[in-house]
Amino acid sequence: ALLPLSLLAWALALAAIATWLGRRLSQVGELRTALVRGDLAVHYQPIVELHTGRCRGAEALVRWRHPSGRWIAPDEFIPLAERHGMAGRITRHVLRTVLADMGAMLRADAQLHIALNLSPQDMRDGVALDTLSATLAGTGVACRQIWLEATERGFMDVDAARLAMARARQRGHVVAIDDFGTGYSSLSYLQALPLDVLKIDKSFVDKIGTDSASSTVINHIIEMARSLRLMMVAEGIETQEQADWLRRHEVVLGQGWLFARAMPAQDFIAFLREREYAGLQPEAALSGG
Ligand code: C2E
Ligand code: MG
Ligand code: MG
Ligand code: MG
Repeated sequence: ALLPLSLLAWALALAAIATWLGRRLSQVGELRTALVRGDLAVHYQPIVELHTGRCRGAEALVRWRHPSGRWIAPDEFIPLAERHGMAGRITRHVLRTVLADMGAMLRADAQLHIALNLSPQDMRDGVALDTLSATLAGTGVACRQIWLEATERGFMDVDAARLAMARARQRGHVVAIDDFGTGYSSLSYLQALPLDVLKIDKSFVDKIGTDSASSTVINHIIEMARSLRLMMVAEGIETQEQADWLRRHEVVLGQGWLFARAMPAQDFIAFLREREYAGLQPEAALSGG
């Protein structure tokens, strides 16, 4: 009776693997279709000045509107796209969408910047950056209004990646290291990178106000950024306490659900106009210490 049972177990395991593979493959196919049909939307999360509550820009975040009606988060499909060599196509779609959206945004605030996320693949092949320069030409958007975000992994992959970012920076783009603190980071390593901005990862912001060991890490990150004269953006701010602490520690910019979630371009423009109309209501950013 043992043999048939183990056979059954094998058969079940194989069936599970086949289902999983099939789902993965069909998801890649669906992603290809989504790119063609324009089912990838770009939402914008405001980036605010912590001292004044003023909105200074936004981060462009891609979302997939699946035919089933469900929104799929980028963490779910960007890794898939990378494995199948499709990251570049997604980035180019995102940057074309951003540049198309920016016209109306700049009418609401001419100084605004938009931050784009680059995957390691984008940095290696450089096509996304070439598309960016070509698409930017003649739009009236200045290079300094396009920020480029890449993770530590993106910078570390190859020398070509760092060179590409150095060139982008020479053209005037603002270059940011994203999710800082989650990878392999040291002062000497950071010093060698072509950087303007350091984004403090949400995992450290989450620890503000707790007395766990990792709550002291953020102090070191801030020290590091300050000694390298990098501008800081704190990510994932959810509480007033976090915002107050960061402001007291001279972190200039922040983003998070305390201020706003990512939203469609039209809503973001309305958000900008409302804030301006209300003469800025900085209480959300200014209350407390
Ligand atoms: P990221 O660049 O670190 O973006 C910040 C993520 O944190 C976003 O998730 C944002 O919605 C989320 N977030 C912001 N504030 C809060 C908060 O207060 N609380 C919580 N719980 N979450 C907050 P999202 O949009 O799901 O994006 C996830 C990641 O996917 C991004 O992390 C980025 O690495 C990647 N990604 C997004 N768009 C693109 C893109 O166009 N291209 C590439 N290559 N990657 C992208
Ligand atoms: Mg980012
Ligand atoms: Mg981040
Ligand atoms: Mg992140």
